[in-house]
Amino acid sequence: MKGVLILSGGVDSTTLLFKMHSDGYEVTALTFNYAQRHKKEIASAKAIAKRLDIMHHIVDLSSLACLLGDSALLGGKEVPSCHYTKEAAKKTVVPNRNMIMLSVAAGYAEAHEIPEVFYAAHKNDSTIYPDCRPEFVQALRPAIRLATAWHPVDLRAPFVDMSKAEIVRMGLTLRVPYELTWSCYRGEERPCGTCPTCIEREEAFALNGRRDPLLEDGN
Ligand SMILES: [Zn+2]
Repeated sequence: MKGVLILSGGVDSTTLLFKMHSDGYEVTALTFNYAQRHKKEIASAKAIAKRLDIMHHIVDLSSLACLLGDSALLGGKEVPSCHYTKEAAKKTVVPNRNMIMLSVAAGYAEAHEIPEVFYAAHKNDSTIYPDCRPEFVQALRPAIRLATAWHPVDLRAPFVDMSKAEIVRMGLTLRVPYELTWSCYRGEERPCGTCPTCIEREEAFALNGRRDPLLEDGN
């Protein structure tokens, strides 16, 4: 079995990579440089791909950033220091990001005759980001299949009904090296602990009775 995975270097896509690996997939990972505020996630994705010795491409879409507005993730608005409220979430939206990345991934998959494209959209994201919702997956799936008629590509989002805490639970059983992952919107030495994704990440570990390894001393 072969699959293409969009690997951000965060908790969700890294867990999906290890799940696919344990299911016997030969994975090609794509990591997108869309001129993020910092490059720590990309460095994490590289380290994770290296750990499993899989094919990994960094796709440079940085020239698109100037077309995509002033999201906090692109270094525009200030990164909010609070839980994911509606207002905070809006500041971190990169418009249509998943659709853009999935389009590229589907093209890559068809060119290399790889029948499945995976991404790690999940239930927590779906309340915030429209291109993480089940309706989006259901709509894009047939569109990708129609667009890749010679070597049909199937879109897969196996975590779409799972919470982040459930994903971490799965990852802990798969022994995912979470110390290699990065989530914080601020690319400092250590996670800031106050941005929405830091708060969500810490909660997901806490709900599993664990501490985020990135917050342990020595990391
Ligand atoms: Zn943070």
